[in-house]
Amino acid sequence: MTTRILIAEDHPASLELMRYLLTASGYEVLTAADGEEALAVMRAERPDLLICDLQMPKIDGYEVLRQVRQDPGLRHIPVIAVTAFSMVGDRERVLAAGFDDYQSKPIEPENIISQMEQHLAVSLRVRR
Ligand code: MN
Repeated sequence: MTTRILIAEDHPASLELMRYLLTASGYEVLTAADGEEALAVMRAERPDLLICDLQMPKIDGYEVLRQVRQDPGLRHIPVIAVTAFSMVGDRERVLAAGFDDYQSKPIEPENIISQMEQHLAVSLRVRR
């Protein structure tokens, strides 16, 4: 079965880059252009992993994560945060909020794929 990844990202060029990258790596990609859509797709599709931009219209990445973790049907799904602003302390704040991992833009392809594989392996093992 194909592994399905939801990319929630409001910046079209970043979304397309990620979509290309993950599709080329053999993943099935779902997309959302804001936080509200991200939550709707999470609930409807229950993907294997969510890559979530922090700065998005309507509902930001932190609130998306909060709602995902409150939903018993979704809370096991790994969520990797992506942010444009890489500042000292960002990573700690993001992990403290409950994200499984963190990537800063510009995304480094090998980096995000290996992060994803790590978290997918853990969550698949837990569910088996
Ligand atoms: Mn954004």
